[in-house]
Amino acid sequence: MPQTKNSLFDTFQRPMQDLRISVIDRCNFRCSYCMPDAEFGKHYSFLQTKDWLTFGEITRLTKIFVSLGVSKVRLTGGEPLLRPDLHELIGQLSTIKNIDDLALTTNGSFLAGQAADLQKAGLRRLTVSLDSLDEATFKKLSGGRGSPTEVLSGITAAKQAGFRNIKINAVIQKNINEHTVLDLVDYSRSSGHILRLIEYMDVGNCNHWESTAVVKSNTLLEQINAQYPIEPLEANYYGEVAERYRFKDGQGEIGFISSVSQPFCGTCTRLRLSTDGKLYTCLFASQSIDLATPLRNGATDTELTALITTAWHKRADKYSENRYLFRSIDRQAPKVEMFQIGG
Ligand code: SF4
Repeated sequence: MPQTKNSLFDTFQRPMQDLRISVIDRCNFRCSYCMPDAEFGKHYSFLQTKDWLTFGEITRLTKIFVSLGVSKVRLTGGEPLLRPDLHELIGQLSTIKNIDDLALTTNGSFLAGQAADLQKAGLRRLTVSLDSLDEATFKKLSGGRGSPTEVLSGITAAKQAGFRNIKINAVIQKNINEHTVLDLVDYSRSSGHILRLIEYMDVGNCNHWESTAVVKSNTLLEQINAQYPIEPLEANYYGEVAERYRFKDGQGEIGFISSVSQPFCGTCTRLRLSTDGKLYTCLFASQSIDLATPLRNGATDTELTALITTAWHKRADKYSENRYLFRSIDRQAPKVEMFQIGG
């Protein structure tokens, strides 16, 4: 078991290590597995800007999380590059000692215009969501928004700005984009970016998830291995979600994130802060701890630290390991939407 400087452990002895911060709940895409247009169209009320945690509040809370053992911080959304002046927040967070990894996940559509500023401000790592290189398939998944060309030019700009080991995340669905996976593999092998294939998950309450729509990682692994032989690699760190493989011909590596077929809750070190300051201890949580109200009512750092410490100590989330049990329960409490807390 890894020991971070001052580890805080939950009920399954999992250390608190990885904080994901949703800086905005809005997005310019309407990906069917996350924010389907039918439910989150023009009539849906997203958070008002007054409800967003300010950069100062995010930085203050992040310092507290880091004092409790967090060493990895990832900015997410919605689409984080829609949050105005995001590079200023990155500048503030990059001055916090003991953050080993400051990363961001984006759909890439605004990256071309912001990559240089993000890098200059201190962002260390980038993950770009790209579910297909085929225009029609891409649009089928994004709610008709954006294009692979736009995302690719964003990735190119990020590489020119100095980002390395850029991760490309693709959520694979049966009979939707499964047939275009090898194009993504070819792109990642030729570009040097790291492709990660993600099993389609029942996040939130609106993507009408069916287990029959899941393409299991092992299936993809066999297909890819038949074309480009691969071999397993060690995890980069405790709690890493992707199973890593390298191409035997030296053309880089590929990862598989198998929350459905091979749940990884046993080593889950992640917690999530929503745009409006609610703390979630699981991607599939139904409950949260409100940090914004006490923070705005003058709570001290000690009081906020106690709230977070209690939340983690009591943590017993293992949704993916018990997915089918939970799904069999009627009147399940609604889960948080993924775009409210980031993936
Ligand atoms: S389902 Fe919850 S506990 Fe399991 S790995 Fe995902 S976030 Fe962690």
